[in-house]
Amino acid sequence: MASVEFANVRKSFGTHPVIKGVDIEIADGEFVILVGPSGCGKSTLLRMLAGLENISAGEIRIGGQVVNGLAPKERDIAMVFQNYALYPHMTVADNMAFSLKLKGAPKSEIDKRVKPAAEILGLSHLLERFPRQLSGGQRQRVAMGRAIVRDPQVFLFDEPLSNLDAKLRVAMRAEIKELHQRLKTTTVYVTHDQIEAMTMADKIVVMHDGIVEQIGAPLELYDQPANLFVASFIGSPA
Ligand code: ADP
Ligand code: MG
Repeated sequence: MASVEFANVRKSFGTHPVIKGVDIEIADGEFVILVGPSGCGKSTLLRMLAGLENISAGEIRIGGQVVNGLAPKERDIAMVFQNYALYPHMTVADNMAFSLKLKGAPKSEIDKRVKPAAEILGLSHLLERFPRQLSGGQRQRVAMGRAIVRDPQVFLFDEPLSNLDAKLRVAMRAEIKELHQRLKTTTVYVTHDQIEAMTMADKIVVMHDGIVEQIGAPLELYDQPANLFVASFIGSPA
């Protein structure tokens, strides 16, 4: 676990500014959701935190350490994407073990990590199956399993549920929250879905066009929206 901080972070693509001075403080163990309309810069912020995108100005800190310039593999984080492409020719166990194998971890350590992760996710009986033999929800769990086995300090989720049907989406929200309650890993979760944000977050960051409009607990944003954008986006009656 670790705290995460964005301090006056900016990002331009060419001459086009997309992140325009963002400050966010995330406490150790917190579940924070970045929410806002499509194109407002949520994925870019997450990708900068992961080290998949350079930052143009400002500082990002993980556990107090400035990570600007560190490669993704030098940051102790794991990311779950919307398109959780599993390797189709590998079993569930091998999919989950893949990043550990890449790092050269011995088989004994791989087993020690994959088994409990599979248990937490209800995948123990599916370890020898292939992705095509799984339901959508099971595949999503394998994608999360790949992140969990790395036991990172921070989890990043980018719209992990947007490809699932409505019923499964609701069930997976609860599962991800339970997982967080169990592991207490600092989590930064991106969605454009207000309901997902309101039901899952400890703290919500409302973004709009490259800036942060407001940061607060779900009820705080609902009761005291800072402006009309937050009010209309969150759906509160201001
Ligand atoms: P969100 O995840 O909130 O939908 P993004 O972070 O993906 O938004 O994108 C924010 C803005 O940055 C958008 O206008 C998008 O078109 C632009 N953008 C994202 N990635 C690139 C890129 N690699 N090159 C140029 N523009 C980009
Ligand atoms: Mg996005």
